[in-house]
Amino acid sequence: MRKTAIVLIALLVPATPAFAKVKVVATLPWIGSVADEIGKEQVEITTLVKPNQDPHMVDARPSMILATRKADILMYNGLDLEIGYLPILIESSRNPNIQPGKPGNFDCSHFVTVLEKPVSVDRSMGDVHPLGNPHYHYSPARILSVAEGMASALSALDPSHADAYKANLATFREKVRAKQKEWGALPTKGKQFVAYHKLFEYLAADFGFTITAYVEPKPGIPPSAAYIEHLIEAIGRSRPNGILTTPIYGRKEVDFLAQKTGVRGVVIPHDVGATPGAKDWFSFMDQTLSALVK
Ligand SMILES: [Zn+2]
Repeated sequence: MRKTAIVLIALLVPATPAFAKVKVVATLPWIGSVADEIGKEQVEITTLVKPNQDPHMVDARPSMILATRKADILMYNGLDLEIGYLPILIESSRNPNIQPGKPGNFDCSHFVTVLEKPVSVDRSMGDVHPLGNPHYHYSPARILSVAEGMASALSALDPSHADAYKANLATFREKVRAKQKEWGALPTKGKQFVAYHKLFEYLAADFGFTITAYVEPKPGIPPSAAYIEHLIEAIGRSRPNGILTTPIYGRKEVDFLAQKTGVRGVVIPHDVGATPGAKDWFSFMDQTLSALVK
């Protein structure tokens, strides 16, 4: 009799009790920021990668394994950006919730249209974008799609708060649409830039500018001295509106090119938290666009 009662209670209690927060583990700061907008007080977020790290060069650490072990849902960028550490974390965590194919394994890239999708996957030349350009977090329309996916995933895991997730998504959507108007009115259209890394393709597509050359000969491959010489000559000739870089990777090379050519270096946060004012995804985008048009 008593045994039956216990079994019944176990069946009635949902996977996530109504009073417990959903434990979200986000790989990158922007994912944590968007998840926070959608989950608010219903979620507890741990972000694995620091804003001062190059997201292409992250190693798995024991603290990361510990965090993923307890996760109800793991949210990640996808398109192999986390290939250097995420498979190890998922395996070592031994957490059944976040294994591939499970509702707690959330690949944000499944919700976006990917740019530069290759015809065939080739890593042999050191290209760190083998599945297409992974840096879609600069695209407001795509971030809105990711947020919609997050709201559905969180509602499925925590149905008792589905109304809250829906309301948070509606607020987020309104904010994004208002910001899209504001950002879209800035004078970015028709401008031409050179970029260190293939980081700004979605930004260029959404805001109507072009990137005419890259300082890296291939994504993830630093330029040789001869290539830098060639760029000094090419940039001096074409006089772009600026040379785009991030506060960490590419900074040294871009500062050198700016000094040699007189074309301004433009420092853009590569993620939320990478510059002091980029506190959440919205202010990250504010800082990105204001740097472009300065
Ligand atoms: Zn990249």
